[in-house]
Amino acid sequence: MRIQLAGMVKESVVDGPGIRMVVFVQGCPHHCIGCHNPDTHDPAGGYESTTEEIIAALPDGKLVSGVTLSGGEPFQQPEAVAIIAAAAKDKGLSVVTYTGYRFEKLLEVAEMNPAVGQLLQNTDILVDGPYEQEKRDLSLAFRGSANQRLIDVPASLRDGAVKQWTDPAWSF
Ligand code: SF4
Repeated sequence: MRIQLAGMVKESVVDGPGIRMVVFVQGCPHHCIGCHNPDTHDPAGGYESTTEEIIAALPDGKLVSGVTLSGGEPFQQPEAVAIIAAAAKDKGLSVVTYTGYRFEKLLEVAEMNPAVGQLLQNTDILVDGPYEQEKRDLSLAFRGSANQRLIDVPASLRDGAVKQWTDPAWSF
């Protein structure tokens, strides 16, 4: 399936726990003031790729232990991004997904759009909410502003309530 991308990074240590491959999806409707990636906003920008190409580039899980789906807004292309997330999980990789939407909003949308639900179901940690410049905090791990949450998606879906992700190796 085709997907519009802004870019890919093979190894990152700032886009989730451990060393991660990062897929930057092109297109974002949120237009957060102070966004660090304004070149990713235009849905027609970036370049065209395919889920097959990205899946072929997934790491083997030894040094690089997971995949981060970032942007742009991954949920603007949920069908393609859900396919990549499912393939990553099949390989035993962890999946971190960034979104400018709130988790609760995505749960509502998932009732009408199954691909949104599939992407959530194949996400381990969701970094949710828009970047809010007045809440900018450089001390936060993996996110830019204090309104953004690190959500343990499997636990939240299981319990029907938002569970924040915590890792004892990191202090927040
Ligand atoms: S959601 Fe992310 S990429 Fe989109 S405008 Fe906000 S900070 Fe930028």
